[in-house]
Amino acid sequence: MTTQTATQTPMSVSFLGLGAMGYPMAGHLVKAFDSVMVWNRNFDKAHQHESEFGSKAVDFETAVSADVIFSCVPTSAQTAELIERAKPYLKKGSVWVDCTSGVPESAIAAANTLQALGSHFIDAPVSGQTIGAINGTLTVMVGGDKSALDFAYPAIDCFAGRIEHVGASGGGFAVKAVNNTLFAVNSWALGEGLSVLKAHGVNPSAALACINHSSGQSFASSATFPDRIVNRSFPKTFTLDLMAKDCGIATDLQQQAKLPAPVMAAVASFMRAASNQVEAGSADFSEFIKFLENWSQVIISDEMTTPKD
Ligand code: NDP
Repeated sequence: MTTQTATQTPMSVSFLGLGAMGYPMAGHLVKAFDSVMVWNRNFDKAHQHESEFGSKAVDFETAVSADVIFSCVPTSAQTAELIERAKPYLKKGSVWVDCTSGVPESAIAAANTLQALGSHFIDAPVSGQTIGAINGTLTVMVGGDKSALDFAYPAIDCFAGRIEHVGASGGGFAVKAVNNTLFAVNSWALGEGLSVLKAHGVNPSAALACINHSSGQSFASSATFPDRIVNRSFPKTFTLDLMAKDCGIATDLQQQAKLPAPVMAAVASFMRAASNQVEAGSADFSEFIKFLENWSQVIISDEMTTPKD
């Protein structure tokens, strides 16, 4: 690490933001650390976490004085608010690990802010959905100082199936945004493909069974469509608003690089339009399909009737 560290291995860890992802992620820390502190804006969740996992619900000032501080909040704007509030209480040498799916420029700004205070910031967004958080199998894509990652590694490892250092500050957020945009592109394209097939009388589940053993296979075809869309269950685990936010981060990166990327840009716009229209703010990401169905008048279910019938 470039500046002094309080300890060679973290003695205390804390987690800020016990949402759909943060709550189970923080639960895994208890397996490896004696002192796991949790804080949440709605503090009842912190008490609930303490009861369920044996962590310790603490006030904000205490939480941010840990050796390793995790955050997992909706956007980089909320992370910046937390860092601003934490500044007077940070321990020199501590490492702030932001698991939010955030904005690369914000990671660079946060890393500079914390470095001036003798601490470190790494962007460490995660992939694997809530089931990956519950099972401790998340993919963690890390941008920032490698020695800061090394220090925090034993804590991150508690909820990770894979940890990859992808480059300097902001690199983790960039990979995460592009990954989710690729997922959105696959999902949208599959929705179009199944609409066409169903309009020609093909059962969507039968089509997916073929696609999942063919070159069109993707996570969307093997998991999202069968588990959420075709069965019309739409479990709320990752909001469409957050998906649209991630696609927007990727298109901002495209603009900054002055690169043409029309497919990514179009699907980012579709996801934003869908999010604005379908239960804005609270719909599951898979409910983007309702927006497409409104256009096509073909419902992606195994029920072989459509609104046209
Ligand atoms: P949730 O909405 O479930 O949780 C958000 C958390 O942030 C809550 O603990 C909430 O506190 C807290 N929070 C919100 N605003 C503030 C604020 N102003 N100050 C302090 N705390 C705040 O979100 P998720 O857990 O689903 O997502 C978190 C991040 O992880 C996002 O960036 C998302 O894109 C990413 N992600 C999500 C995945 C998923 O499957 N859900 C998968 C991979 C990444 P409170 O309880 O008080 O509202």
